[in-house]
Amino acid sequence: MDEDLYRLASKWISESTHLVAFTGAGVSVESGIPTFRGEDGLWNKYNPIFLETNYFLTHPKKSWSLIKEIFYDFFGRAKPNDAHYVLAEMEKKGYVKSIITQNIDNLHQEAGSKNVLEFHGTSQTLTCVTCNSKYNSTNLLVSIPPYCPKCNGLLKPDFVFFGEPIPQEVLSESINEASLADVFLLIGTTGEIMPASTIPYIAEKNRAKFIEINIEESKYTNSMVNIFLKGKASEVLLKLIEFLS
Ligand code: NAD
Repeated sequence: MDEDLYRLASKWISESTHLVAFTGAGVSVESGIPTFRGEDGLWNKYNPIFLETNYFLTHPKKSWSLIKEIFYDFFGRAKPNDAHYVLAEMEKKGYVKSIITQNIDNLHQEAGSKNVLEFHGTSQTLTCVTCNSKYNSTNLLVSIPPYCPKCNGLLKPDFVFFGEPIPQEVLSESINEASLADVFLLIGTTGEIMPASTIPYIAEKNRAKFIEINIEESKYTNSMVNIFLKGKASEVLLKLIEFLS
């Protein structure tokens, strides 16, 4: 039964002309990065107010000390897991055309994926809130909060804070990718984070086939998903690539 689902999923993948993968926090759990919500979620430990723009601008030191602890000291130690590596291999083999990720941890790129759209931005770069200069985050986090070497303005990580809009470029590229997709792979996402959660509906409108990988059902499972492969992202993807080869 399970084998049949994998066989069918791999058939769809190998016959696809434009497969898009859409990933959420679940793909990085096995790299040691917990999800935000849920039982072991980060928001059970931290108050997410420090990621609200107004709070950040008025309390830069307090915000930055948590941002550094979570997104740089902790996330920064994480390494890609097999889920990231299999997706990169699937891109190399021509199966995956792009990944739209909601994650900000850079692990898809570290694993070798090239065509990655970071819907919520990245922790890799910082931008000055005053003069807009952009910097690599490495070496700039020695004292907190970090300030712009050019104008001394406050530096903000290039990931989307609560209440901030999604950058126009990544939004339109993601919409475009979703509208081209004939197979759409949902991995480790609840489908509850707006507006990211609307992207798969664009692919649905264009009659893409949906394959989902998750340890539990998401908002999409019973509405648009054709094949639900239950399990940890790395285990399911490793099995799937076996069927593909
Ligand atoms: P989410 O929508 O990203 O959901 C996480 C999903 O992962 C859940 O459906 C859960 O069942 C699933 N999951 C957990 N472990 C899994 C595994 N081993 N294999 C497959 N699926 C697994 O929700 P969130 O965590 O609240 O995240 C909110 C937003 O913050 C999202 O945009 C998310 O991408 C982002 N976020 C990013 C990171 C990161 O950059 N690594 C970490 C946490 C949250």
